[in-house]
Amino acid sequence: MDSPYRDTWEKLNQEIITCQQCPRLVAWREEVARTKRRAYRDWDYWGKPVPGFGDPQARLLIVGLAPGAHGSNRTGRMFTGDSSGDTLFAALYRAGFANQPTATEREDDLVLHNTFITAVGRCAPPKNRPTAQELANCRPFLSRELSLLPTVRVVLALGHVAFKGYLRALEERGLDVPRLKFGHNMQYDFASPLPTLMVSYHPSRQNTQTGRLTQAMFDTVFQQIQALL
Ligand code: SF4
Repeated sequence: MDSPYRDTWEKLNQEIITCQQCPRLVAWREEVARTKRRAYRDWDYWGKPVPGFGDPQARLLIVGLAPGAHGSNRTGRMFTGDSSGDTLFAALYRAGFANQPTATEREDDLVLHNTFITAVGRCAPPKNRPTAQELANCRPFLSRELSLLPTVRVVLALGHVAFKGYLRALEERGLDVPRLKFGHNMQYDFASPLPTLMVSYHPSRQNTQTGRLTQAMFDTVFQQIQALL
């Protein structure tokens, strides 16, 4: 990213956590944190934008949609504490990208191997649907993460919104991105040094419960990524 200063993780994450650019999302994330879900009434919800996390030398970057209202909006760590995360971390563990199959809170001793996890939206959106403007507001954060992750060789986009958002981020970085089709287990190779893009259906409860995304389908994606790495 063109920048008058040298970016750092500390600076970026501080800006993310204190961001108030999207009034609708600020109101929603805070309201959810105040009202809570009954099962989590003893939790002190995070209720702020959620930064990415993982290995800063990662070769695999996973891009999701946005925090779940009672998932990472509660725990403060991407994909941590909801059913999407349950599916994702179990698959990462099976594939050797995580030291444990579960993620429940920020201090749960989870370690990602060679992997960094982020999302195109940082604030929990109502009905899991950020607006185009909200995603545009948030995209510079993804772009800065891309700059801070020079060793990434594979980007895995989870779901259509993440897929589109990542491609838009590349365009906004001045890259000429061809028209690409979204689909499960698709692989797109770009000219070096751009990472290969892998695409998966999002591990949402809706997709896993309906069988749109099975464990075998998800594992296949990570096996393919292992082969690429
Ligand atoms: S979605 Fe992104 S840009 Fe909007 S308030 Fe949250 S962190 Fe800021």
